[in-house]
Amino acid sequence: MKTLQAIRGMPDILPHDTGTWQWLEQRIRSLVQSYGYHEIRMPILEPTALFARSIGEVTDIVEKEMYTFEDRNGDSLTLRPEGTAGCVRAAIQNNLIASPQRLWYQGSMFRHERPQKGRLRQFQQIGLEVFGVATPDADAELIALSARLWHELGVSDVVELQLNSIGSAEARLAYKTALVDYLRAYTADLDEDSQRRLGTNPLRILDSKNARTQELLERAPNLHDFLDVESREDFAALTGYLDSVGVAYRVNPRLVRGLDYYNKTVFEWVTTELGAQGTICAGGRYDGLVQQLGGKATPGVGFAMGLERVLLLLAARGIEAPEANTLAFGVGVGEQGERACFAGVESLRYTMPHAVIQMNSGGGSFKTQLKRADKSGAKVALIWGETEAENNTVTLKFLRSDRPQVTIAASLLPQELERICNTM
Ligand code: ATP
Ligand code: MG
Repeated sequence: MKTLQAIRGMPDILPHDTGTWQWLEQRIRSLVQSYGYHEIRMPILEPTALFARSIGEVTDIVEKEMYTFEDRNGDSLTLRPEGTAGCVRAAIQNNLIASPQRLWYQGSMFRHERPQKGRLRQFQQIGLEVFGVATPDADAELIALSARLWHELGVSDVVELQLNSIGSAEARLAYKTALVDYLRAYTADLDEDSQRRLGTNPLRILDSKNARTQELLERAPNLHDFLDVESREDFAALTGYLDSVGVAYRVNPRLVRGLDYYNKTVFEWVTTELGAQGTICAGGRYDGLVQQLGGKATPGVGFAMGLERVLLLLAARGIEAPEANTLAFGVGVGEQGERACFAGVESLRYTMPHAVIQMNSGGGSFKTQLKRADKSGAKVALIWGETEAENNTVTLKFLRSDRPQVTIAASLLPQELERICNTM
C-alpha cells in the first residue's frame, strides 16, 4: 500500500526540533507577558466573511491564498490565514474591547502559497494586539518590545526595522489617484501583477519585487507628500519614542503591507539572512477595523511574527537552545532489582522535580540497559541489582567521566545527585 504523506508545505515538527521551538516560545511568552499582555486563544476556523471583510477582497491572501470550504451545513468556512481578524472578532464578541486592552496569541496560520524555505502553507505566528489606544506610544511600545526580543535572542545586528506611515484612508485615496495617474503612462512597462493591481489595489504596486517596476517608482509621487497632518504628527511622535530608547529604523516610504485594514503606522522587521523570506515580523495600526467588524469605533495596533522564520534566522546565526540534559537513567537487573529501580526512580522524580530522569523499560540484560543509559545522554546510571535491592542501596556509574562507580545508601541518592548536578 502507498504510504500517506503530509500535505506539501505542512511539515511535521519533529522531536529533534521541538526543544528549540519550546525554548523560543517560552522566551517570547515570558517577554510578552512581562509587558502586560494577556493570552487569547481563538479557533482555527472562522466564517469566510470575516477575512474578506477585514483583510480585504483584493489582497493576495483573500484572492488566492485562503483555504476555504463549505462545511456540511453549506456554510463557508476558512482556515485562518492570520490572527488579527479573529482576535478582533473575539474581542468584540466577548466584550474585551477596552482602553487599553493588550492581547497576544499563538497558533497555526494557513495560506496556500508556493512552499519554500521560510514560506509554508501551515506556519506558526505569535501576534500581539493593543486595542483602545489612539496615540503612537502604543505603536512605539510594540516596536520596542520586538526590538527587545531580537536583543535577547542575539540577532539585533542582523535585523532592520523598516517603518512607514500610510496615513488616513482619505490621504491614501488621494495618493492612489496620483499614483495611478502617474503609472498609467507606463502600463506596458509594469510587471503583470502590477498591471492588474493598477485597477484593483494600486498601493500594492509599491512593494513589487520587479526591478523595472521599482525603477519606474523612483519618480512616482511620494506617499509622504499626501499624508494628513495627524498622521504626520503621530509618525514624528513615534520616531521620537523610538529614538528615546535607541531603537534604530529606516523609513521606507514604499512599505505598504498586504492587508487592507492598516492605517498610519506600518512596520516590518527584515533580515538579509533569509533571502526573499526576510520579513520575520510585521504589523501596524488598524484604527478602523474594530468598527468595520461591528464593534464600537476603537483604535488598534498590532504585529505578528513568523516563528519558522525566526528559527531559521537563529539557525543561520548558530544560536541554539540550551539542551535539557538527562541527569540519570535507572537500570534494574533481576526481578527485585527491577522493582527497586522502578520505585527508586519514581521517588527520585518527586524529590528532584526539575531534573530529567529516565528509566529502563522492557527488560534487557545489564549490558543492554547500560547501553540504553549511555544513549540517553544521562550523566549517571543508577543501578539496582539483587544486592542493592536487598541492602537498600544503589550503585552510581558515571557515564561521562572516569570517576569510579560508588554504591551508596538509597536514602542519600537525592543529595548525591544534587552534588553531581552542581559539579558536572
Ligand atoms: P510575505 O511578504 O513574506 O508574504 P506577509 O506580508 O504575507 O509576508 P504577514 O501577513 O504580515 O506576512 O504575516 C506576518 C509574518 O508571518 C510575516 O512577516 C512572516 O514572518 C510570517 N509569514 C507570513 N506568511 C508566511 C508563510 N507562508 N510561511 C511562513 N511564515 C509566514
Ligand atoms: Mg504573503
